[in-house]
Amino acid sequence: MPQNLSMFSLEGKTALVTGANTGLGQGICTAYAAAGANVIGVARRSCQETAEKIVSLGGNFTEIIADLSDINAIPLILQKAESAYSRVDILVNNAGIIKRCDAADVSMEDWDSVININEKMVFFLSQAFAKNWIADSKGGKIINIASMLSYQGGIRVPSYTASKSAVMGLTRALANEWAKYNINVNAIAPGYMATNNTQNLRSDEQRSEEILDRIPAGRWGTPEDITGAAIFLASDAAAYIHGFTLAVDGGWLAR
Ligand code: NAD
Repeated sequence: MPQNLSMFSLEGKTALVTGANTGLGQGICTAYAAAGANVIGVARRSCQETAEKIVSLGGNFTEIIADLSDINAIPLILQKAESAYSRVDILVNNAGIIKRCDAADVSMEDWDSVININEKMVFFLSQAFAKNWIADSKGGKIINIASMLSYQGGIRVPSYTASKSAVMGLTRALANEWAKYNINVNAIAPGYMATNNTQNLRSDEQRSEEILDRIPAGRWGTPEDITGAAIFLASDAAAYIHGFTLAVDGGWLAR
């Protein structure tokens, strides 16, 4: 790699990505491996497809099966990550769920399930890694996956909007405390991407058309579309970027 581009390399780094078996998480894992990182994927279900993609690139992938709706899973995640690699340098808080329901009908159970994964786990997993990074003074990178609903209200997804608005707030709050330790906390706000998360939306012909009409790029995004931002924010090239949420949205927010 030419000298001036080596700042974008992830060679010799280890990245832990949550929600690694599908969609955006799978795209980020594969891109990190291609950029030279060892990748640890955390998911509820097997990450076999992700592993196969990475192995075909000649990369290293380690899987940790964990339920991220429960913060009691954190010590085991740390322990398994540490037994695979001496240090994790990059944490991507990508796992997330969405529940569609009129605000008047949202149950407390559904509310908690969304907040637990999308918000509470993001905070406590970040805290767990940051404690180690503060202790060893070697810094680290946290990349949170936010949403257009970190900026906007959305329709029929109030718990998701609350959680993703919190993700953008937390990204700023944690950056304010941890930037001095060379820990970069930033976020990516994907626009409307073709993954499981938007399956119901894309099957609703009217909503799907309304959304597509509003995207200046004229198409839904793909997991590959966010990989450039994900590599950049994890790399040395982003050393002085703190607390920022980068939208990768085909121009949605510009409208
Ligand atoms: P996805 O449904 O394919 O991925 C969600 C991932 O989260 C899966 O890998 C799943 O295994 C994991 N996950 C969910 N619950 C879990 C649990 N309890 N324990 C462990 N893992 C769990 O959809 P996606 O679009 O790839 O979503 C990834 C992230 O991107 C989510 O945070 C989502 O909110 C966010 N996002 C997606 C879009 C979009 O348009 N697709 C837009 C903005 C933000």
